[in-house]
Amino acid sequence: MSNYITVIGLEIHAELLTNSKVFCTCSAEFGGDANTRCCPVCTGMPGTLPVINETAVEYAVKAGFALGCDINKFSVFDRKNYFYPDLPKAYQISQLERPLCINGLIPVEVDGKVKNVRVNRIHLEEDAGKLVHDDFNGVSLADYNRCGIPLIEIVTEPDISSAAEAKAFVEQVSLLLQYAGVCDCKMEQGSLRCDVNISLMKPTDTEFGTRAEIKNLNSLKSIVRAIEFEEKRQAQLLDMGKRVVQETRRFNDNRGETKSLRSKENAHDYRYFPEPDILQVNFTDEMLDEIKAKLPELPDVRYSRYVKDFGLSEVDAKIIIQSKLVSDFFDDTVSNYNNPKSICAFILTELLRRINLGEVAMENLPFSAKEFAQLVEMADTDKVSKNDAKTILRFMIESSKSPLELAKENGMLIEIDTGKVLETISNVLAENPAIVEQYISGDTKVFGFLMGQCNKALKGVATPKVVKEELEAKLASLK
Ligand SMILES: [Zn+2]
Repeated sequence: MSNYITVIGLEIHAELLTNSKVFCTCSAEFGGDANTRCCPVCTGMPGTLPVINETAVEYAVKAGFALGCDINKFSVFDRKNYFYPDLPKAYQISQLERPLCINGLIPVEVDGKVKNVRVNRIHLEEDAGKLVHDDFNGVSLADYNRCGIPLIEIVTEPDISSAAEAKAFVEQVSLLLQYAGVCDCKMEQGSLRCDVNISLMKPTDTEFGTRAEIKNLNSLKSIVRAIEFEEKRQAQLLDMGKRVVQETRRFNDNRGETKSLRSKENAHDYRYFPEPDILQVNFTDEMLDEIKAKLPELPDVRYSRYVKDFGLSEVDAKIIIQSKLVSDFFDDTVSNYNNPKSICAFILTELLRRINLGEVAMENLPFSAKEFAQLVEMADTDKVSKNDAKTILRFMIESSKSPLELAKENGMLIEIDTGKVLETISNVLAENPAIVEQYISGDTKVFGFLMGQCNKALKGVATPKVVKEELEAKLASLK
């Protein structure tokens, strides 16, 4: 196979988290019985008029800021005409010439190398409905609940050159949109979907090759597999002296293959024209500043805060910010117990382990950040041993009790009784005079034995740390 350069551009569709749809007041919530969240406007009945949802515009602008875009102070909506049964109006309100956001830039890291991917534009449009194909009865059913849910389309320049870069880019965009609070990015529910435009060229070529577009990929895994399949398919065609056809292809997840769906439309096929029913959007500088001020803290700002203010290692800080839920929970916990390093360690080693084991999900933890903070503090201040703290976390997942209650119930609470500690040490030393003699004459490796005897007698009364300190002091005084 010859050596080709892969050229990839992505179109990411992200549903905005508004309460209502973009041009009517129907609920924009995911799910619902088929066709129960529709009205004459979003089903395109004659004589209805759309009214734009201000929050949807605001969210699209927030997304623009989060993805490093310039915001167009003046933007317009256009009608995109197409006849597929998933859109009963037979046109989609979208933006062509003047989208809300342009010229973004997103750095992504793959194998330690940073690649800058340019964002050409972000425009606001309405989502289409969902078709459910019933192969048994040979019919397709249409559910229009999704019709009119606000959608942003993020279009990149063809700056991506591998499946790994495409995956890293989608992950980064997803993270930024979640931090910006504009999309939940649940690919499995379709709130984030991706189209891949891919072509190959020889290193000596001066122009891009003909591209194929793979539509509606709804998992990171499918994106990677579809790109890898296309790279092979197109390389084989080119090696045989054949040409790649410009077309839209569908990825079959079960077979791991892409298949031709239809010849690719160009913009003129959609006969765009300015949408006469929607007003143009005009922003003043003050309005844009106001939206920018409402933008929540983004991951890179959190990252520096964690490293600089909290003293976390770069590696740990990176893992925490990789999930907004984890990062929010970490911040909440720190606000209840100001020991970020200790909390971070407990989250990374214990909580995330339980989550990875599938025992609990970050989305619905059965305990609060305040209770988690209590647990970490109890372990830090030797109220419970480090080992018991791990067990208590497991109990907290299984019951709704507080860490203190659980520690008491299970006899794990340590109330250090110094008098008892000293008495026990004295007893142990008195019972083992030969070993004490050995220690005093310089054979210090017997310390472990004495320590073991004391710990056994003091279980639940003192932590090994306290026993060690007291035993060392006692032995030193005998020398
Ligand atoms: Zn509606």
